[in-house]
Amino acid sequence: MFHILLHVLVPLLVAVLFYRDKWFKAMLIMLLTMLVDVDHLWADPIYDPERCSIGFHPLHHPGLLPIYALLMVHPKTRLVGLGLLIHMVLDGLDCL
Ligand SMILES: [Zn+2]
Repeated sequence: MFHILLHVLVPLLVAVLFYRDKWFKAMLIMLLTMLVDVDHLWADPIYDPERCSIGFHPLHHPGLLPIYALLMVHPKTRLVGLGLLIHMVLDGLDCL
């Protein structure tokens, strides 16, 4: 439960700190990147709190991290890349 709460609180914090004038839109875009978890639908069970998502689910493959980082280069895709990287870091914490 704390993990899911972090997936909301961290984007909210980043949006308020770095996108002060349009924090709500920034937060929404970053929250929408949680759709990356659609790849859980191919796993059985769909959610396992003991499982490390990084490297297990296809959209959580470490090889995709540079692509997610590249999305941050262009202003129009920056929040998507930032949201995805925040998501992967938070999921990665579960792997420690
Ligand atoms: Zn995830």
